[in-house]
Amino acid sequence: NAPAQPVVSDSWQHFENEPDTDWGVPDNAAWIQETLDRWRKKKNVCIDDDGDQTTDDPSRPGVVVCRYRNRSIAEVKEAVRVADQDPSGWQTKSIGQIHEILRAVAQQIRVHRGDMIGVMVAEGGKTVLEADPEISEAIDFCEFYPLTVIDWKKRSSLSIEPRGVVAVITPWNFPLAIPCGGIAAALAMGNRVLLKPSAETTLIAKMLCDAFWDAGVPRDVLHFVPCDESVAQEGLVENELVDTVILTGATSTAKKMLSVRPSLHLLAETGGKNATIVTAMADRELAIKHVLHSAFGHAGQKCSATSLLLLEDEVFDDETFKQSLADAVNSLDVGSAWKLHNKMGPLIAPPGPTLTRGLKTLEDDESWLVTPQHIITGKADGNAKLYRPGVKWNVKPGGFSHMNEMFGPVLGVIRFSKIEEAIAIVQSTGYGLTSGLESLDDREIQLWKEAIPAGNLYINRPTTGAIVLRQPFGGVGLSAYGPGVKAGGPHYVLALAKIENGNSPA
Ligand code: GLU
Repeated sequence: NAPAQPVVSDSWQHFENEPDTDWGVPDNAAWIQETLDRWRKKKNVCIDDDGDQTTDDPSRPGVVVCRYRNRSIAEVKEAVRVADQDPSGWQTKSIGQIHEILRAVAQQIRVHRGDMIGVMVAEGGKTVLEADPEISEAIDFCEFYPLTVIDWKKRSSLSIEPRGVVAVITPWNFPLAIPCGGIAAALAMGNRVLLKPSAETTLIAKMLCDAFWDAGVPRDVLHFVPCDESVAQEGLVENELVDTVILTGATSTAKKMLSVRPSLHLLAETGGKNATIVTAMADRELAIKHVLHSAFGHAGQKCSATSLLLLEDEVFDDETFKQSLADAVNSLDVGSAWKLHNKMGPLIAPPGPTLTRGLKTLEDDESWLVTPQHIITGKADGNAKLYRPGVKWNVKPGGFSHMNEMFGPVLGVIRFSKIEEAIAIVQSTGYGLTSGLESLDDREIQLWKEAIPAGNLYINRPTTGAIVLRQPFGGVGLSAYGPGVKAGGPHYVLALAKIENGNSPA
């Protein structure tokens, strides 16, 4: 007798991730160089004829990338009203129809891959190496979320309905993938959406909306509403016609939203103070490679970045390790995001008070293993956004550098004696987004996995770069507010649905 075949679903279990560009292929490198040259020479792009706002190139002080206009409170409220009315009947579309349209969005993003990278370099200060995977992630979101809706609707006898109007409020550090994820998930469930992009990265957000519109999402279903914070607050957060806010931003922003509207359905991914723990049982060379990527990719401006490196006594005292870490950091190519070989580009803005203290001040017994440096280029005052990374040695548990999110290129190193102690150091930050363990020892891995308070646990791998479906992304503690679903995971769309009886259909 043939064994029974497992029943396989034809939906998200079979989802395949979009591959990143292979930069080892000479044609690809030539293609992106040509694209970058074109964008670097472009005069600024005008989104609105009467645009009085700009986005600027962090790599080149004074260079304007795009001009746009902030929407007024009346315009934002009108957009919400239209989204609520749903004149195109998006909420009654079948998931099959929505799936087709979102697949067409994915295709639009594929087609515009080069230009979208160019714009992320221009206004986001992202290097090509950092911008390219964002395109893949955006494509994945468009293709993955509708599959999960199909699956839930098939598997459940409960009714799963759209919630209504969703406001997506997004940051500049992942200016394409994060808005795309929020929009795609909300639309897949039949909701209507307003995108309020970060002021620094408005052009890429507009290009993303173009991709949705060109693929067949009606303009009364997806609204592009760049606006200032007070308009967003009044027109979106406090507006009872807006059912849900998807936020990626500061913990304080999420808290404020809930204080002005406690009943708000909020899905927020907030800060992180993430650690990579390197035990005596680690492959030390590999650990350095992973930590470099986690700490200094996009100049450390990721919620998922490693900003604490916890070293077990034996590793902390290993002079060869220490020297290799310093050499590796010193050897990073840092500078303009326009140069293909640069591994680290500029900050989005000159350092604020917390990062300034992190970059400039040593406290207690701290010393610099690598001193962060402001890069002086050309003009006497240089570019206030350009820093070489730093590594702060012997940070005190409980001290400033341990407890504060820096969102910049500075890594604090803390010594520990036992893995339990390292876990306690991680716990005490109150955040819980990503966490890395570098160890080849099963017992340590098990212990850490059971005890570490973080949404994303990475073993012998960098703490950044979550992949849709493989590593659904989301946090605990101060790192998240809301129903606890993870972006890029199968449950995310359920948080954007009304489910009859209030039960999960699982
Ligand atoms: N999803 C991103 C990653 O895994 C981080 C997003 C963020 O910084 O908000 O690196």
